[in-house]
Amino acid sequence: MAASAVKVAVRVRPFNNREREEGAELCVDMKGNMTKVWNREQGTSREFFFDYSYWSHDGSREDPETGVLTKDGPGSRYADQQMVFNDIGIGVLDNAWEGYHCCLFAYGQTGSGKSYSMVGYGNNKGIIPIACEEIFRRINDRASPYIECKVAASMLEIYNEQVQDLLQPPQNRVKGGLKIREDPKRGVFVEDQTEEVCTSYEEISAVLDKGNKSRTVAATQMNATSSRAHTVLTISFTQIFYDEETGKPLNRKQSNINLVDLAGSERASKTGATGDRLQEGSNINKSLSTLGKVITSLAKRSSGQLGKGEVIPYRESKLTRILQNALGGNSMTTMIAAISPATFNYDETMSTLRYADAVKSIKNAAVINETPQE
Ligand code: ADP
Ligand code: MG
Repeated sequence: MAASAVKVAVRVRPFNNREREEGAELCVDMKGNMTKVWNREQGTSREFFFDYSYWSHDGSREDPETGVLTKDGPGSRYADQQMVFNDIGIGVLDNAWEGYHCCLFAYGQTGSGKSYSMVGYGNNKGIIPIACEEIFRRINDRASPYIECKVAASMLEIYNEQVQDLLQPPQNRVKGGLKIREDPKRGVFVEDQTEEVCTSYEEISAVLDKGNKSRTVAATQMNATSSRAHTVLTISFTQIFYDEETGKPLNRKQSNINLVDLAGSERASKTGATGDRLQEGSNINKSLSTLGKVITSLAKRSSGQLGKGEVIPYRESKLTRILQNALGGNSMTTMIAAISPATFNYDETMSTLRYADAVKSIKNAAVINETPQE
């Protein structure tokens, strides 16, 4: 068993066009693994320390042909997509190869850069597509006749506390959402969830595209293209090891790689949400506020402060139920806290960093998921 603290990375994005036009003021700085946030009006500042601090605010250069952003010179501290993948994505894949379940989730207010880190835009591919490429590169490089690898993908959306299968066409959506079940062998799982077997990067890309197209996207003032839902991509990676002499299967390792792009963490009022959107907002907050409660309890448990008879409130929301294993159990977990650089978003940034600060004190105990074959 490997006891490991949840790893936390924080990443700050560039000013967007609106912020640039309005002459937005910067309230974040990073040095080494320290992130500092200040409020000039209040005359206060606070320093946070995380496993990784990614400065993606300035110091980048865009390749005119490909649109890929990299450092604009040797002195630049700009963290590009490849750097984030090399630190976080590779770690996730290494763990999966060992047979550990892994979970990577992106947290932050709408427009802070969660999808940029997880999925990416255009040629600035995020962790998910680079990881998918790397999975098949590793499988093909190893090419041993005595090891068989299987990859399968599934994709879910949690919207208004309902779980939907993104790999099913919208007309097949189940009224009220899919049911979450638990069994001693499989743990917590979503009933009737589609799993697509993939044998190449092209195949898994097509599956991800299909899933992304069926996501529920609603416009809010914060970010016209932002999704108001949580998206959970699970890549199941199985290795079967065969005896070189007898050709019989010896051993099997299976790992679930959960890659989660959370809905915006902001309070409903700031998005200008009304009516339906407000209803969504409160449900999103229910899943996210439960995530907050779960994190607080897990942090207490890790430091031995959880009261007797006190339970971790996983069951209070769909998100925490699905992520139960990933958050407080048999999983290697990493969080990316995405933040805005602008003073205008100071309160949300502080709330994200406080959240991240609590997450880093959670300790999980992951086991290698291995079954000897008869
Ligand atoms: P979220 O998913 O948190 O709502 P997005 O990932 O869609 O936010 O990011 C909002 C905008 O900011 C997008 O236009 C995106 O391209 C840009 N952006 C976010 N992070 C970065 C980054 N690290 N470098 C460059 N642009 C970024
Ligand atoms: Mg997004």
